[in-house]
Amino acid sequence: MLGWWEDDAIVARYAIEVPDPDATTSSWTRADHRAQDALDRALADLDHPWLGYVGDWHTHPARCGPSSQDEQSICNASRGYSQPLLLLVRCNDDTFEARSADQGHLHPLTIHHQSDGR
Ligand SMILES: [Zn+2]
Repeated sequence: MLGWWEDDAIVARYAIEVPDPDATTSSWTRADHRAQDALDRALADLDHPWLGYVGDWHTHPARCGPSSQDEQSICNASRGYSQPLLLLVRCNDDTFEARSADQGHLHPLTIHHQSDGR
């Protein structure tokens, strides 16, 4: 996801898709090189000075909520950033669950949804 940090908020402005050809209905892997390629392309296309990587998203076809593997993955990724990262999981009933991780640890968070109609 692309966005920025504002005070203590993570603003996730865009979600870009990083296809995972090996994904199954119950597992996925975070393919760092593919993610980086998609990120670089999106940043070039969107050309917005504040935008950067703020976290990951994926969908769950069945069971809702981030798995322990999902939480571990975002915790590990957060060690590489000075600001907290966001993990957003879209469930099959079109609801979202989120986690935030900072320096390897999960953080409580509140979601504020804002839509500009696009
Ligand atoms: Zn998951």
